[in-house]
Amino acid sequence: AKRWARAAAVLRELEERCAATPARLRQVADAVAVEMHAGLASEGGSKLGMIISHVESLPSGQEKGLFYALDLGGTNFRVLRVQLGGKEGRVVKQECEEISIPTNLMTGNSHDLFDFIAAALAKFVASEGEDFHLPEGRQRELGFTFSFPVKQSSISSGTLIKWTKGFAINDTVGEDVVAELSRALDRQGLDMKVTALVNDTIGTLAGGRYDDNDVVVAVILGTGTNAAYVERANAIPKWHGLLPKSGDMVINMEWGNFRSSHLPLTEFDQALDAESLNPGEQIYEKLISGMYLGEIVRRILLKMTQEASLFGDDIPPKLKIPYILTTPHMSMMHHDGSSDLRTVGAQLRDILGIQNTSLKTRRLVVAVCDIVAKRGSRLAAAGIHGILKKLGRDIPSSDKQRTVIAMDGGLYEHYTIFSESLESTLQEILGEEVSSSVVIKLANDGSGIGAALLAAAHSQYL
Ligand code: ADP
Ligand code: MG
Repeated sequence: AKRWARAAAVLRELEERCAATPARLRQVADAVAVEMHAGLASEGGSKLGMIISHVESLPSGQEKGLFYALDLGGTNFRVLRVQLGGKEGRVVKQECEEISIPTNLMTGNSHDLFDFIAAALAKFVASEGEDFHLPEGRQRELGFTFSFPVKQSSISSGTLIKWTKGFAINDTVGEDVVAELSRALDRQGLDMKVTALVNDTIGTLAGGRYDDNDVVVAVILGTGTNAAYVERANAIPKWHGLLPKSGDMVINMEWGNFRSSHLPLTEFDQALDAESLNPGEQIYEKLISGMYLGEIVRRILLKMTQEASLFGDDIPPKLKIPYILTTPHMSMMHHDGSSDLRTVGAQLRDILGIQNTSLKTRRLVVAVCDIVAKRGSRLAAAGIHGILKKLGRDIPSSDKQRTVIAMDGGLYEHYTIFSESLESTLQEILGEEVSSSVVIKLANDGSGIGAALLAAAHSQYL
């Protein structure tokens, strides 16, 4: 009985510390909007990179021809080819393949990583069928989606600022990732030109706009998290280039690196950060995204075991292994609808080696998942609110302008409780009138198509 009281106390304290109250969410949204201004004002002016993408216009629908895309994200990379048929034909045909990246390559050297990618791409190109047409004498062209912070120097070049998520390869930092990829393509004997280098958020924005003209924001909730949006070029003081014809410039926010004293951080978050590959960085991402949610839950359960013998007197050895409990595991337990929480019991047994858990214990585990998932989803909603504030779309407009947010990422797609909480929180903070014109649209793998569309828009043959 005493240990239950102790466990309940830890849970209550956790709930308090993690509470993302409406007042707190408002502060976070305000802070995001303020940081957006600061990041646009000067280079390094904010924790938010507010990176100028050099994308001045989003797809029009006129794009035509055969284009390739390559998407290097967190755990997988995808290759894609698409035959675009212009205004009438749209996407005539597309093919996609997903390849997982061997973990040792994520922390090895640049040469090996890019060789692996180029080899997989070469193999994919070799399987190109009759339905795809490359005009005589033309080079194949590729849009490269690279989901890490890059300082863009043009639409088709940029240097890596830092790795995030599970990647840490020193010799890539500061290098032009298009040059690295192009050299690897040469080594494979693959004749292909990279005509667009885009962040996954930009790809999603482009793919989203191709489908729906009212898309102005893109958000990724996958292994990591980030957002991009369309800004007016004359609202970017740090931009010293020519004013684009469109008057617009797409901004990659790199919002994963946001931090603020208003974020509800706990001892668990601090320890996770300190022991991570990138301490002190990507604090917002570490509260929200798929790479970390399960790990936060593991840390909480470990503490409950140490302080309240949650799983008996001995600490289950597997519970001490960092990242052993993934967000998909967490999500599976969280969605368990059975009366005896059978799935929770099975996951605890299979993943953590904990046998014979009581229903009471399983309930507690679900409660922990709920606290961590709700905090993350509500903070993500506050981030979106911040962007809408910056765009002046957080208040009722007379013309009932629709605002569409293109969303992508495995976390949002598969973790239903997370995505439902995000949407209801956004409604709660925007109010009925405004939220009736704000739409979140799942742009499933929109970033691949988006990158191909941007490659088409920046083709050397135009
Ligand atoms: P990436 O972010 O690496 O480009 P995805 O967008 O496919 O890739 O997202 C993959 C991430 O989504 C995984 O790392 C995981 O954290 C999360 N995820 C995938 N499936 C689930 C699930 N069923 N429940 C919760 N999270 C999931
Ligand atoms: Mg991705």
